[in-house]
Amino acid sequence: MNNVTRKNKIVFFVFALIVMVIIFPEIRSLANTETCIAPKSFEITPTSVTLDETTTSQQLKVTYDGADVTSDPATTYTPDDPGQLITDKGLIKKDPNASVSIKNIAINLEIAHKDQKKTVTVTLKPKPDCELIYGNANAPYVIFFSRTNSMSEGSPCGGTINAWDPNNATQLEDYKKDVKTAVTQDINTIGSATQKFAVYSSDNIFPSSKGPICPTIESNRSDIIFKNYNWVANNTGSGAYSIINLKSAYYCMGNKSLARKNMIAHELFGHAFAQLRDEYTNNDEGAYCMQQMRHGSVFYNITAKNDCSKWQSAVKTGCFKGAISVNFYRSTENSIMNDLWNASGFSPLQMYFINMAANDYSNLANNLRPFAESLTCP
Ligand SMILES: [Zn+2]
Repeated sequence: MNNVTRKNKIVFFVFALIVMVIIFPEIRSLANTETCIAPKSFEITPTSVTLDETTTSQQLKVTYDGADVTSDPATTYTPDDPGQLITDKGLIKKDPNASVSIKNIAINLEIAHKDQKKTVTVTLKPKPDCELIYGNANAPYVIFFSRTNSMSEGSPCGGTINAWDPNNATQLEDYKKDVKTAVTQDINTIGSATQKFAVYSSDNIFPSSKGPICPTIESNRSDIIFKNYNWVANNTGSGAYSIINLKSAYYCMGNKSLARKNMIAHELFGHAFAQLRDEYTNNDEGAYCMQQMRHGSVFYNITAKNDCSKWQSAVKTGCFKGAISVNFYRSTENSIMNDLWNASGFSPLQMYFINMAANDYSNLANNLRPFAESLTCP
């Protein structure tokens, strides 16, 4: 009897529970919680990818419910344009057989796992020609630096130059560091004229000293007023030069001749930009003077008159014997155009010409005319 009563009670309780579950949806949902679980998380990282010219592949990480399913066969990939990309197990590859014009093309790559899909945006971006290392990108006077394996004007290093190694990352980093050091330490020698300059550096190695160094920038900037190429050779020697009116300067990497203080100031801002001539004399003075004449016999910052009268109304200076020739005169005892290693800066006269060039480079030839003097070597 006891057993029958207990059995009836159990049957009634179960029956009552079934009725309640049917009647009350809240209770039904309690008994059926599995359908309420949020969808399992499906993540792809990175969510956008930029491939430059040197990138050949980019690994995407795909996780499902926290687990890495990057190589899971259930993960499928559907690129919008199969001609642009081939994909395999989470690896996006540029198709070597597809003709991909790498110019900011954005491709949406759809990745699906089980019932979920996500899109990754892949952008193919051209590797920039050059890096802006100083100044404003819209500056009117632009200077470009690059490495070269042959210099059209001969090597300033005093010997055979060595080929740069395109696969030597340390060599590239050293070059980049030296250019940055040289530019940032020397640009202040020209005072407020710095505001007119932008300086770019290329990672490329040029077989000869022939530009354009930064084709994209140079072709997009028809408003550049002054453009100068700075070529750096790989050599253990030490030297540099710049030739008036050639719009190029040449440096040797060895012994820090590129990054040495005042080197760029002398070659680039002094010679190449402001048309300044050397204000020192050489031991082999006759030959040295003749060699300098090959680059032009008209001089502005040096004179044959021992009172230096031609610039006194513009800039009041002293007058010191020796500049290219012992027969010519300069405005100060020392300056960056005289003994660059020991000079504290450009002379006031040199700064006058630098500012003249910086204020109106297009009219520099006209503005220099009152100071023009045709000299002959002794
Ligand atoms: Zn010089």
